[in-house]
Parts: sequence; structure tokens; C-alpha cells
Amino acid sequence: MSSDLVTLAKTWVAQARRVVVLTGAGISTDSGIPDFRGPQGVWTKNPAAEAQATLQHYLADPAVRRAAWRARLESAAWTAQPNRGHRALVELEQRGKLHALITQNIDELHRIAGNSAQRIIEVHGTMRRAMCWGCGLRTPMQEVLQRVRDGEADPACPSCGGILKSDTISFGQALVPEVIERAMTVAREADLLLAVGSTLQVFPAAGIVPQARAAGARIVIVNDQPTAMDDLADAVLRGPIGEWLPAICAA
Ligand SMILES: [Zn+2]
Repeated sequence: MSSDLVTLAKTWVAQARRVVVLTGAGISTDSGIPDFRGPQGVWTKNPAAEAQATLQHYLADPAVRRAAWRARLESAAWTAQPNRGHRALVELEQRGKLHALITQNIDELHRIAGNSAQRIIEVHGTMRRAMCWGCGLRTPMQEVLQRVRDGEADPACPSCGGILKSDTISFGQALVPEVIERAMTVAREADLLLAVGSTLQVFPAAGIVPQARAAGARIVIVNDQPTAMDDLADAVLRGPIGEWLPAICAA
């Protein structure tokens, strides 16, 4: 049954000319980066971590920021390497089929795997950059983390003294309108939308699937758990992303 669906999805990819891929945390768990709400998720195991991810708390409370900087130092993402799922999407681009790669992930593993930066749309930003809430200055995260290692518990902006945060979308923080608009535009241009490793519960990911479908795209969902958009899909592949995505994307 499942192998029949994989074969079908592989055929659709072969026929498609503009595949848009949407990825969520599930594609990076094989790289050792935990997801948020799964059984082993960051927030499932440590609800306090969710407060660190809330903008209002982060900006108001130095203790939240100090805890957030310690957590950033220890992130599994700094040593994580792309896995077979990421590499399958590089192959899709090399075949000339990848129109755009929209990701909810902040780990930049798609870029590190070898997808071109201009095809990647990071709707939740990137953890590899810091941003100042005072002046908007953006700096490499590793430069700021070195200051934390050197003893600054809550390093301030080197330019204006403002609060630094990872350049990601926290809870309570507005999405970047131009980025979301670009994601919706490419979704309308897709002839096949491949949603991978996302539960498709939160905006903007949740809106991309119906947008692509309304514009006539086939919808294929690959995830190890049910998603909120399974009813809209032409095929739902519930199983290991690291095995099935390479099978679907291979020439
Ligand atoms: Zn600043």
C-alpha cells in the first residue's frame, strides 16, 4: 500500500515542472534536532522553554533572555548535519524541478545541504543570525554566542545597546509580510506541492496548502503523524521521511 503511494508520488514528481516544497521540523529530527510538539519535543518536555520563545517575555525579562542565551549555546543545531531528506531536495533542485523551498525551520540545513539560497524561503527566520530590537542590526549568531561564552549573560547590541534576539519569529511576533507574500505567490505557481515534516497547524504553513490546491496543484504530504491538511491531499504518505523522500525525489 505505502510503496504504491511512493511510486505514485514519484510519478507525479517526474511529471511536475514546478515543485514547491514546504518543510517543517520533522525533516530535521533525523539530524538530531528535536521538534517542538512531538512526544520528544522541546516544549512537551520543558514547558518553560515555550516562555523563552514568547516575544513579550523575552523583551521584558532579563532572566528569560539569560536562559535563552544559555539554551542557544547548547542547541543541537550547531553540530547537526543535513540528512537524507535534505539531500533528496537537493537532488530535486539538480533535476531542475524545484521552484521554491518554503521552510518553517530555522536551522538552515537546506542551505547547508546544498539548495540554492534564492530558492529557499525561511518563513520563521534563521537561528544563525542575531537581530537587534533597538536598531535592526543583524549580526552572525556565532559572534554573539562567543560573547556569551566569554561571560556576557545577556549581550547587548554593539551598535545601540538594544536587546539582541535570534533572527527568528517568536510567539507573539509578527511574520515578515514580504516573506509570507513570496511564499503564497510561489504556492500559487506550483503544479505539485510537497509538504514534508510539518503538522500544517500553524500559519503560514497551514495557508500554503489550500492556496496551492486552489491554484490547481497536486498535493502530496509526507509526515510520520497525521496533519491538519490530510483531507486536502492527493496522497498522504505517513512514514519515515528519510526513506520516502529520497524515493520520491530520485530520478
Ligand atoms: Zn542595535
